[in-house]
Amino acid sequence: MAELINGKVFAAHLRAQLKDYVKQLQRQHQMVPGLAVVLVGDDAASQIYVRNKHRQALECGLRPATHSLPSTTTQGELLDVVTQLNANPTINGILVQLPLPRHIDSMAVLNAIDPDKDVDGFHPINVGRLTLGAPRLIPCTPLGCLLLLHHHLDNLSGLEAVVLGRSNIVGKPMAQLLLAEHCTVTIAHSRTRNLPAVCRRADIVVTAVGQPGLVQADWIKPGATVLDVGINRVTEGDQTRLVGDVDFAAVAEVAGAITPVPGGVGPMTIACLLRNTVTATCWQQGWPIPE
Ligand code: NAD
Repeated sequence: MAELINGKVFAAHLRAQLKDYVKQLQRQHQMVPGLAVVLVGDDAASQIYVRNKHRQALECGLRPATHSLPSTTTQGELLDVVTQLNANPTINGILVQLPLPRHIDSMAVLNAIDPDKDVDGFHPINVGRLTLGAPRLIPCTPLGCLLLLHHHLDNLSGLEAVVLGRSNIVGKPMAQLLLAEHCTVTIAHSRTRNLPAVCRRADIVVTAVGQPGLVQADWIKPGATVLDVGINRVTEGDQTRLVGDVDFAAVAEVAGAITPVPGGVGPMTIACLLRNTVTATCWQQGWPIPE
């Protein structure tokens, strides 16, 4: 039976470390890192994510500010808000919650964020830095996955890693991080042929697809480490529950270690956002970056 990788416990530990570091910054420099979260529209899931980000930032001792804008906000108005936040010296991190309403070009908005305040790590400069092997601000979900992997595996060097999904926010940056750890990396996606055979050669499988139960037990090499990023809502009768991309019960019989959904990768995402806010502050001020 696979070891359970408990992201909830690990994320709580990370937040406690950050809280101590933020206290230290306040003592030494009399400043509290500021995180601005911009939400446009009334998407229910985004509202929950933004509320959680705000609450956890506050608990960590950061100074969060949520800017909720109506769904009728124009691209120009949103760009003006981003410009003001870029210029505001009390704001160290800026996050624009995705998805944005369809009439707004997300890429234009992400490109407008000061790369040094880009705590989501989606700005082309931060994507480029990661690709060149000199990262600063790394996308939160893949960063969370990497921290979990480091906690569970002594050395990633030389391992075969398969990333399922090639999105800009999870799949591609995850592959870059694994490459930087000297893994042999395969990115699989919706057009990949014989996905089970591709997965079976992996020592590490990271799934970020969005299809419940996609990954089966016979896709997994015995002893492999499986990180399930997928978040899928499934309804059975009048009950709705969250599941990942992995057939958890079956895969747990074969894998060496596995993340559950919920309680695996999910909690790490917000913890890494808080970590990125502290990292951004330290870069901006020329202070040591916390480990
Ligand atoms: P996306 O929709 O942008 O990309 C999905 C990817 O899956 C695509 O690259 C596609 O090629 C690939 N894909 C689709 N069908 C496939 C198949 N049958 N076999 C192999 N690959 C297939 O998704 P995303 O934004 O990267 O999110 C992926 C999942 O991760 C979603 O369930 C999302 O909710 C979840 N997610 C979780 C967190 C977290 O904090 N845990 C963060 C971001 C995303």
